[in-house]
Amino acid sequence: MSSKISNSANSWVEVSKKSDFPIQNIPFGVFQSPNHSPRVASAIGDFAIDLKVLFEANMLNGLGFDMSDFDTNFLNNMMRHGKSGTRKLRERIYDLLLDSNIELQSNQELAKRVLVPIQDIEMMLPIESRDYTDFYSSEQHAFNVGCLFRDPENALLPNWKHIPVGYHGRASSIIVSGQDIVRPKGQKKPPTAEVPTFGPSNLLDFELETVFFTYQGKPLGESIKTDEADDYIFGMALFNDWSARDIQGWEYVPLGPFLGKNFASSVSPWIVTLDALEQFRIPGPKQEPKVLPYLEYSGDKHIDINLDVIIQPENGEENIVGQSNYKYMYWNMNQQLAHHSVNGCNICLGDAMGSGTISGPNEGEYGSMLEISWKGTKPFKMSDGTERKFLQDGDTVIMRGNCQNSDVRIGFGEVRTKILPAND
Ligand code: MN
Repeated sequence: MSSKISNSANSWVEVSKKSDFPIQNIPFGVFQSPNHSPRVASAIGDFAIDLKVLFEANMLNGLGFDMSDFDTNFLNNMMRHGKSGTRKLRERIYDLLLDSNIELQSNQELAKRVLVPIQDIEMMLPIESRDYTDFYSSEQHAFNVGCLFRDPENALLPNWKHIPVGYHGRASSIIVSGQDIVRPKGQKKPPTAEVPTFGPSNLLDFELETVFFTYQGKPLGESIKTDEADDYIFGMALFNDWSARDIQGWEYVPLGPFLGKNFASSVSPWIVTLDALEQFRIPGPKQEPKVLPYLEYSGDKHIDINLDVIIQPENGEENIVGQSNYKYMYWNMNQQLAHHSVNGCNICLGDAMGSGTISGPNEGEYGSMLEISWKGTKPFKMSDGTERKFLQDGDTVIMRGNCQNSDVRIGFGEVRTKILPAND
């Protein structure tokens, strides 16, 4: 853990108490604007911090980085420097923003070019992922789905408490917040129908998830242990892993998710580092039955992250439809990464690892419309008088997340996506 960053520190940049990006956060992202080519940035308060300009001004010297790490479309180059490199960079940015530090503060002309109002820029997909894996690690979600599609007596499948269940998703369709999606079309076969039909999905759904991104892992044939996993995890973001439940329901046997899942997954633009989240670590649930030795772990590896999912109808107001927390995960990231690589599968720079839908134990804490509307049997009442069983065209789905204690708030910003009607 990074010991240098203090909860009592203040910045010379004004930051509101409710901001997701205090000086203790220092997330990473990529932005562009009519005045700016794509470049790597951090954030404080309402400003992006232009790391290309900072580097050009010799403010990031001696850390081992070069211009190609910042003058680029993705964080991948910077992430090649591994945990020690990005940690030094984050601490240097923190130093430059401290109210006691005058290096940047005293150079108003430079500070004005470095601090760019977030409202004036376009945030881009932060990381280029060659591979995307989605886990299924929230017990309540797996239990709810088991109840809905099988029976409450045997809701969890026999492997669930032994294996962090997952599947390989589609990296090419990971999109950044703000990019619209088109309602997918595909084959569907309601249980009562004799033959499948083709058309727009009628059961379009979100999945409230987080995602973590990896540094370069180990070569093919080697494995990452649970107690090494932190060194291979760069940071986390919010993740809406879209699902077309009707397409998914017809296609998934025997090989699992395919076209019902691979049309889009939306990610928030700022990656919050694992270092920034360290003080929000909490113990996980007792794992019973006991896991196999390669899945055992020590220390607090779960994290207390408040998560909200919101539906905003076209020209309407926001409706909070679910409030969950990352602490409800059964399997933590260390176990997921250890399991993923235990067979020798190589983990690569920028791999995206979805948590799976995160649902809490109580009603109101569910992370998908499938669960919120209990498969369409309990429609959600919106503030405008309409109901939602699943998502409608024109709906915008927004996910927000933050960690909060008495000293500091570390936020993720949001991931926001509007649903456009299916193509003709
Ligand atoms: Mn998912």
